[in-house]
Amino acid sequence: MPELIRSVRALAETIGPRPAGSAAEAAAARHVRERWESLGLTVQEETFRTVTTFSWPQGAVYLLGVAAGLATLLRPAAGVLLGLAAVILFWGEVDGPAWVSRLLARATSRNLWTRIPPREQPRRTLVVSAHLDSSRAAAAFDPRRVQLFRATFLGVAAGLAGVPLLAAAALWWPGIAPAALLPTAYLAVTAALLGQRELCFRFVPGANDNASGVAVLLGLAEGLRSSPPARLELWLLATGAEEAGLMGMRAFLERHGPELADAWFLNLDNLGRGELVYTTAEGMLRPHATAPELQAAARRAADRLGIPARPQAFRTMSTDALPALARGLPAMSILALDERNLLPDWHWYTDVADNVDASNLEDACRLALGMVEELDGVGRD
Ligand SMILES: [Zn+2]
Repeated sequence: MPELIRSVRALAETIGPRPAGSAAEAAAARHVRERWESLGLTVQEETFRTVTTFSWPQGAVYLLGVAAGLATLLRPAAGVLLGLAAVILFWGEVDGPAWVSRLLARATSRNLWTRIPPREQPRRTLVVSAHLDSSRAAAAFDPRRVQLFRATFLGVAAGLAGVPLLAAAALWWPGIAPAALLPTAYLAVTAALLGQRELCFRFVPGANDNASGVAVLLGLAEGLRSSPPARLELWLLATGAEEAGLMGMRAFLERHGPELADAWFLNLDNLGRGELVYTTAEGMLRPHATAPELQAAARRAADRLGIPARPQAFRTMSTDALPALARGLPAMSILALDERNLLPDWHWYTDVADNVDASNLEDACRLALGMVEELDGVGRD
């Protein structure tokens, strides 16, 4: 399947970095559209509003936490209210409806999707997704300290929760109020780092994250077009703005969630290097278990085809599977991780096509095709 690595080069080298809502992201969508149309597929395009980076909404929430911490020194009751608002908005960004991202959304991005009908009467639908956009680098993604990313994030969560708790304690025991300065300082530093990210770092080529997933999605379209499943209907979905708060998948589910209430969702992300895994749980704050039927299909397909792939919880960063899981829809991701369970070259300038392994892409594509066969057989009578 030499076309898989060619797809990665087309997206990561010819088009290059693809910020959410940018002309480059739109060019990536055009590339996918042309490839699908060359297979005779009918392509749907749906636009939506998005932020261009997660730094602004996250930074706004952290600064609200800072304001709550400072208010605690003067008026603990105000610290409680502001601090609770920051906690709720933070949950909304990470695990909820992303109110702040929606409020700040000024750019336009798009989702593309196409449908591959089965040979017979459809029994169930599988939505396979991969995101088109790439991320901006940041100090936190520097390979020398990227393994601290999750601890830093949990520190933010603890800091945001700590401020209203300390403010509430200060209502009865005013002497404790200065302790709120500790989480406040931590939140101020992390907010400043998000500002530094926007000022000092560039968007990355995104060969592994996620031209690799899009390449496999395109490979799937070719494989399934020539031999479609018997009873499983396929929707192939290329999302925009995943790196900017999963805004593409959110928009897709708002439009199509009701008609896909019985569908499975398989997400493809970072498949270019490392060991293939299928996720057992996702979610940075609350762990959402992935669909047991999808896990079973991945395990059976891997065993049958002799592809090394293992189950693994992935909670370092949210993927496009999360909005589906948060809605109670059965979803799962396939990723490739390094020996530290991190994504290789994650959000860094080394995320280039030369660091993507063609054999990884082929294994991932065979695994996904094998899963389609397994799911096509689920409930067969
Ligand atoms: Zn990604």
